[in-house]
Amino acid sequence: MALETLAARYGTPLYVYSTHTLLDHFTKLDSALAPLDHLVCFAVKANSNLGVLRTLAEAGSGFDIVSEGELRRVIAAGGDPTRCVFAGVGKSEREIEFAIRQGIYSFNVESEPEIERIDRVAKRLGCRAPVAVRVNPNVDAHTHAKITTGTYENKFGIAIEQIEAVYARASRRRNIQLRGLQMHIGSQLTEVAPFRQAVEKVAPLARRLHEKYGLEFLSIGGGIGIVYQSALASGDPRWWTASKEAKSILTPATYAATLKPLLQSVGLRILVEPGRFIVGNAGALVTRVEFVKRTGSKNFVIVDAAMNDLIRPAFYDAYHEIVPIRRKAGAMISSDVVGPICESGDYFAKNRPLPKVREGDLIALLSAGAYGAVMSSNYNSRALVAEALVHGDQAELVRERQELEEIWARERVPSWLGRQKAKKRPARGRA
Ligand SMILES: *Cc1c(COP(=O)(O)O)cnc(C)c1O
Repeated sequence: MALETLAARYGTPLYVYSTHTLLDHFTKLDSALAPLDHLVCFAVKANSNLGVLRTLAEAGSGFDIVSEGELRRVIAAGGDPTRCVFAGVGKSEREIEFAIRQGIYSFNVESEPEIERIDRVAKRLGCRAPVAVRVNPNVDAHTHAKITTGTYENKFGIAIEQIEAVYARASRRRNIQLRGLQMHIGSQLTEVAPFRQAVEKVAPLARRLHEKYGLEFLSIGGGIGIVYQSALASGDPRWWTASKEAKSILTPATYAATLKPLLQSVGLRILVEPGRFIVGNAGALVTRVEFVKRTGSKNFVIVDAAMNDLIRPAFYDAYHEIVPIRRKAGAMISSDVVGPICESGDYFAKNRPLPKVREGDLIALLSAGAYGAVMSSNYNSRALVAEALVHGDQAELVRERQELEEIWARERVPSWLGRQKAKKRPARGRA
């Protein structure tokens, strides 16, 4: 499917996902972990589109969810709640009750007050709730500060030194079933070493807890990094100017080969919770050039997508490869690719050598499948964009573009201002 065809059919900005890549990445990781007893739980927060979830559910994926909304999405997409783990530091009573009623596989808990709350809700429902405590192994993942989670600087998990005491106390609660142990040290890890360090620290702990409390599983979290800067976009060597900075890719083969011997010795079912690895490279954001604006020193390419559609560059200083959909011969020009929003942070690239583009040209922001559409907002009253899923030579919308009226449909003018839409008063006293 040509992105140009999809842009013509569905308009821009448009997220496009590839079924082939989704399944390819899922299968690569799943088979690399075999013959270990394991379950891949796709981290729904990376991309929660129903079409994506259904595709992965049919491939046998479980899911890592962080809210009632995500669990309801998984169920709506045909996913199995008994293959879901529920993460997050602030689960509400309502969310806990809903998840217990749906029979989720485990709550990955982050604090003792949370265990107490789950115990209380389970008691009210007359059952035992399955939990795993998230251990913070205090390992630096060497990734961006906003996506590092495995050190004591972070709000996540319980310090490894305290874990056994926490399990001892939790084991005395009547309505808690200690089912597992969990960790997640960060996102976009491009080396295997931090994973190895963390598993080396946690494996003996998991074995001890298994002997004492009969745990069933150890979850080693998500975090496998992907390539954002690649030579794939073009055969033109000048195209790939960032090659020197590009980090080597962490493959599922390396990941599994390094960790499997350590994990095998634990003797538990192993869960992994990849988000970005499955879906990141499976998506692109297609956008159209509105204007090209030259100032004294800069070439600004103003596109119809903006930071509200893809916030990663503004939020995480993220790099997305940018590719004009129709390549033209000619010199590269250092460009800033920016959106129409009234914020200096509204950019996709700065001082990036790109081929010259013109008003109306289509460009694609690559590797936008993870933490893209899910983080979009209505800032500047811009409608949430459409999402399409490609399957071989077919493509369908898996999310319609939002209508502008839907943005404010649940807003109200307060009663003291009158029920009617504010109208201009007719001018009085004039002929
Ligand atoms: C975000 C998150 C994941 C997924 O992280 P990726 O880097 O997208 O693989 C997995 N587990 C937990 C607990 C998370 O918070």
